[in-house]
Amino acid sequence: MTHINRDRLVDHFIQLVQIDSESRNEKAIAQALSEQLGELGFTVHKLPVPDEVSNGFNVYARLKGSIEDSIVLSCHMDTVTPGIGIEPIIEDGIIRSKGNTILGGDDKSGIAAIMEAVRCIQSENLDHKTIELAFTVHEEGGLFGSEHFDMSFITSDKAIVLDTGGPIGTIVNAAPGQQKIVANIKGRPAHAGLAPEEGISAIQVAADAITQMKLLRIDEETTANIGIVEGGNATNIVMPELKIVAEARSLNGDKLDAQVNHMVETF
Ligand SMILES: [Zn+2]
Repeated sequence: MTHINRDRLVDHFIQLVQIDSESRNEKAIAQALSEQLGELGFTVHKLPVPDEVSNGFNVYARLKGSIEDSIVLSCHMDTVTPGIGIEPIIEDGIIRSKGNTILGGDDKSGIAAIMEAVRCIQSENLDHKTIELAFTVHEEGGLFGSEHFDMSFITSDKAIVLDTGGPIGTIVNAAPGQQKIVANIKGRPAHAGLAPEEGISAIQVAADAITQMKLLRIDEETTANIGIVEGGNATNIVMPELKIVAEARSLNGDKLDAQVNHMVETF
């Protein structure tokens, strides 16, 4: 039975949120965490990322365990704005920001939880699996830190990412892939009153295609939707051009590819 040290956990969390780390400016937090993980006995690797992604680096850390197996635990180190000069306050057992900034619980609560779990394991001298940590820069706005994470360091085939909303205890075990389709359909303009037979109506071409297209709920894992149509200048001109923006999503990568191909071919 392990015992979370509540004061130690809160102190560490409070310390982490006071290190400014808005997206692309994670150098200080990455440095601090690298040192702390080194003190906990982890082998720490500072993994470089392009300058436009961050002034800091991704952190990979590994703690070998005596139990045969391993797991990756992952969090992001950056916060949204306004996240400079965060002053946390504790009121009735709830940690808040003083008011003019975010708190930064996303995702530093995950980092604090992971490191407290490791401290518990160590202080009670428990056997554990090999623990791999992947702490990333610049998650907010596009997962850029993960995109540039050097995956050659990762050896485990399973990971838990501590970064989701919802009630405590919520586990998200699948997420859909998504693809966006932009179709530009070209017709031929003509005066709709004087010489309509000389025109080709882009929207009629599109309509023919769309009536052949499987859309909305495709199956239990797959959806597709046309969300935006833009075209036309005047009622008396045969529509010369039409832009259609659509998407497809699926929990299954092969089905996503098939749906996207179907839509592109039908257009
Ligand atoms: Zn997050």
